[in-house]
Amino acid sequence: MLQAHKYRIYPTQMQIPLLMSHIHACRFVYNHSLEQKIRAYEQTGKRLSCFDLNNQLPTLKSEHPWLTEINSQSLQYANRNLDNAFTRFFREKKGFPKFKSKKNPVQSFQIPQHYRVDFESNRVKLPKIGDVKTKLHRVFTGKMKYATVSVTSTGKWFISILVDDEQPAPNPVSFTSETTIGIDVGLTDFATFSTGEKVANPRHLKNSLQRLKVLQRRVSRKVKGSKNRQKAIQTLARCHEKVANQRNDFLHKLSFRVVSENQAIAVESLNVAGMQKNHKLAQSISDVSWSIFFTMLDYKCRKYGKTLLKIGQFDPSSKICNCCGYINRDLKLSDREWTCPDCGTVHDRDINAAINIKTFALQDQNLVGVI
Ligand SMILES: [Zn+2]
Repeated sequence: MLQAHKYRIYPTQMQIPLLMSHIHACRFVYNHSLEQKIRAYEQTGKRLSCFDLNNQLPTLKSEHPWLTEINSQSLQYANRNLDNAFTRFFREKKGFPKFKSKKNPVQSFQIPQHYRVDFESNRVKLPKIGDVKTKLHRVFTGKMKYATVSVTSTGKWFISILVDDEQPAPNPVSFTSETTIGIDVGLTDFATFSTGEKVANPRHLKNSLQRLKVLQRRVSRKVKGSKNRQKAIQTLARCHEKVANQRNDFLHKLSFRVVSENQAIAVESLNVAGMQKNHKLAQSISDVSWSIFFTMLDYKCRKYGKTLLKIGQFDPSSKICNCCGYINRDLKLSDREWTCPDCGTVHDRDINAAINIKTFALQDQNLVGVI
């Protein structure tokens, strides 16, 4: 199984400019190649492959001598990243690859091989950079694939190493209705379980959001290009980082708990992109970060041999009575509770939805007989 291990690194004042030029160079190559690909396609209808683009690197280096200072394998990896972006675009119908901006909050580059990790001295040796002090808080064994070096907008450096432990992924354990949980995510509560449990959004996250708003306003009031604006931007970036850390911490703990306590998890796939068009809700929706939660559930299920069941987003999960199947077409988004006119059951909107998500998922899986 492949697993990424991420560590904080502490480059010296001499190493930081070297790392930065690797980031700039890889972004430069990526953007240059993207331009080449678009132009070649427009002019000749030809699709440039990763191989074609790598063959252009020597010419590019002679035109831009500063690129010779950079690990050439990292530059080739930039082309591979672009290739992968196109594959996702064609195969998974994800958006057309975009030019990379130096304004992105996290900047990174890859090192495919020839780097070393020394757990004893807490150092990693990177080609063209040298020994970098690292906090190797966790030991791994297995085959090291590529490494990603990244820097956040507040100047913290990290290395993420993809490791293949050469063990097969665990076979999924069998599940029954009793060992399956349905999860409905929402704005009022972060998540509601089919067991009736509700998980609130963490309070400290809400407080940080208030602070973010204040800091954002401060930035917009400062004169563009001024030192004070620069300072305000830094403070805002630190707060953004704090919110992201708090949110990830919360999501890690919750997803780990859900995966440990159940053999199968049923969720409803979300149309997050569509929801974000609603500007009133956009803030809260992006911040509760359901999609990050689902991604975590996904890889934790794979890791621990559990099953993630997804149902389509058009199943009217909150409108169906989970006792008798009556469909309440008049249910509004503001109705938090409703009584089924058919069987008289009083429903909490979210718990009812979570139970339905679980039922739909188990029916699609034809669970009857699997037990
Ligand atoms: Zn009913």
